[in-house]
Amino acid sequence: MTMKDLDEIILKARDFINGTSLNVVHELKDLKIYEEPLVCIADAADPLFLQLKNPDVVGPHHMIPEEWLPGAQTVISYFLPFTTRVRESNYTEGDPSTEWLYARIEGQICNNALCQYLLDEFVKNGVDAIAPSLDKRFKVIEKRSNWSERHAAYIAGLGTFNLSKSLITQKGCAGRFGSVIVNRKYEPTPRLYKDIYEYCNNCGACIDRCPPQAITAEGKDHTICSNFVDAVLKKYNPRYGCGKCQTDVPCEHCIP
Ligand code: SF4
Ligand code: SF4
Repeated sequence: MTMKDLDEIILKARDFINGTSLNVVHELKDLKIYEEPLVCIADAADPLFLQLKNPDVVGPHHMIPEEWLPGAQTVISYFLPFTTRVRESNYTEGDPSTEWLYARIEGQICNNALCQYLLDEFVKNGVDAIAPSLDKRFKVIEKRSNWSERHAAYIAGLGTFNLSKSLITQKGCAGRFGSVIVNRKYEPTPRLYKDIYEYCNNCGACIDRCPPQAITAEGKDHTICSNFVDAVLKKYNPRYGCGKCQTDVPCEHCIP
């Protein structure tokens, strides 16, 4: 397959996730981490990428696709939904479930492998490509990275933000994102929304789920959230996570 259109990219990504042993945690009774990915496409020249440099959005250090890859034409963005077993294990209150802790860490190793695989497939087919999250220029300044997977996903048409500052896709918000920037032209996916919070119904379920009460009707306090996740890391090092606001809520696995 030559990655000639979105269907071929989706097939490649699905085959990888279905076939890789990195998507299975053997020590947790063969826990499968991810379902098949959703994949969408953004025009690298979409003016929304420039808006991410606004301090109110991400910040001036956020790099546009052209800065990551001169001649960039397309951003491929994907979402890996967590499986029912991972999600439902985290329906408890308080600390994250063991399955969730593994899905965040071993799951990120699997996510990175998918990203690297797609990158290699493009390069093998003569397409210049880079993955910001795997690039040596990737950095995080004051808890904000210079490439936001969720914002790229929003621009690519994968979904909209919600009260807990996750992104709600057709398969909900519990999962992980990734992206690859390429210098081949693909048809962008239409964005089926107009407002950045369109898919959130403001039901407030995530407010009640959050252990340190980081979420209110006005939004999420990132400092309270990250302090809580830091405390989880101290306890479960090297694993960490939380995800209570993404589980046992209406936007967990669909658009509510
Ligand atoms: S639980 Fe309800 S209010 Fe919270 S993000 Fe999901 S849909 Fe929005
Ligand atoms: S990840 Fe946990 S601490 Fe952070 S907002 Fe969600 S529920 Fe609250």
